[in-house]
Amino acid sequence: MEYFYREGRQRYGVLMEGKHPVGGQWNFDKDNRKPPKGKLNTPQPIWFEPDALTQQVIEQVKSSHYSSYGAVEPFRWGVTRTQALQVLDHFIQTCLPTFGPYQDAMVTGETTMWHAMLSPYLNLGLLHPLEVVQAAEQAYFDRQLDLSSVEGFIRQVLGWREYMHGLYTYVADDYPTRNWFQHTQPLPNFFWDANQTEMNCLHQTLKQVESMAYAHHIQRLMILSNFALISGISPQEIEHWFHAAFIDAYDWVMQTNVIGMGQFADGGILASKPYAASANYVNKMSDYCKACRYSPTARTGEKACPFNFFYWDFLDRHRQKLSNQGRMSFILKNLDKMPDTELAEIRQQAREWHSQNC
Ligand SMILES: Cc1cc2nc3c(=O)[nH]c(=O)nc-3n(C[C@H](O)[C@H](O)[C@H](O)COP(=O)(O)OP(=O)(O)OC[C@H]3O[C@@H](n4cnc5c(N)ncnc54)[C@H](O)[C@@H]3O)c2cc1C
Ligand code: SF4
Repeated sequence: MEYFYREGRQRYGVLMEGKHPVGGQWNFDKDNRKPPKGKLNTPQPIWFEPDALTQQVIEQVKSSHYSSYGAVEPFRWGVTRTQALQVLDHFIQTCLPTFGPYQDAMVTGETTMWHAMLSPYLNLGLLHPLEVVQAAEQAYFDRQLDLSSVEGFIRQVLGWREYMHGLYTYVADDYPTRNWFQHTQPLPNFFWDANQTEMNCLHQTLKQVESMAYAHHIQRLMILSNFALISGISPQEIEHWFHAAFIDAYDWVMQTNVIGMGQFADGGILASKPYAASANYVNKMSDYCKACRYSPTARTGEKACPFNFFYWDFLDRHRQKLSNQGRMSFILKNLDKMPDTELAEIRQQAREWHSQNC
């Protein structure tokens, strides 16, 4: 992705000074991973009242069987080119200046943070990706914005989004059926009803998806998809759920992000290692664990966080396959150091969880 992205920058002359990237480096990602600390002064997103046509569609959806998941109302997304441009302008004026630092942070009740909320409009064709990229670049030059925020945002659109689209057209037709880890567990019911889980990170994120059909990238990757991956849920079942639940879902972006990035079901075509993490990551990057009935530091026992026992169980179950992934060797060494009795308990707890929850 990094090299693809650099070519995009050169090809379209984005944030370039001749042949060199503005600021002397291509990527400022390391500046953009701050955990949430204290009170964050997050911007308000821009929303719209439904027009007559939208209201008519809302009534149709309410009276059809499709309305069984999530809240049909309030529906506050834009539906026209004019509204999409307003969202873009709002993002550039209000969120872009500080888009970067808390890009990966998750905070209870903060559904949108500094994120752009532009994916539905881009995917529908109401906005062109290049106009979005150029609007961000222009704001950088006009207002001397923080480069790590502007570069970070441009990398999402010109880098990740285009890379995912390119990959979708490049991979074989059977890509959506891939299942490298041979995961077959059914999707737990709480994915369709957030009230059925006491795991606070999942509860908060799923509640948000139910009400607005949106969660930001790290909630999608490190809460929803991570949980499906480490607990061994079928990649096709979780992809089906994402497809049904999100406002910006399309085959091309869903398959690459869920099957490839989230579930590593393609065996590493897209990502260089599985995005698998224990409660340690969730506790560092969010405030969810503070209000949870589970303990983010417990791996076994009554208070053990399922993200913990599933994480170690995942590493243990796939030790053989993962040992060929260079970037996993450090963590596999930690697995080797775990006492046999603890590992046996972890395996047992993971098995029992499925029989109680699926
Ligand atoms: C499991 C999983 C499922 C996802 N499903 C979708 C989906 O159905 N539709 C979708 O558009 N994106 C999807 N994404 C990618 C990304 O999470 C969303 O594009 C982003 O969260 C949309 O919110 P935003 O507009 O506020 O994004 P911001 O965080 O503000 O990012 C700006 C823009 O960058 C683009 N972008 C960033 N990362 C990606 C990516 N990995 N793939 C494609 N575009 C990207 C989007 O167009 C987005 O609008 C998924 C990611 C994961 C991990
Ligand atoms: S303790 Fe575990 S389940 Fe609870 S919020 Fe933290 S990571 Fe999620």
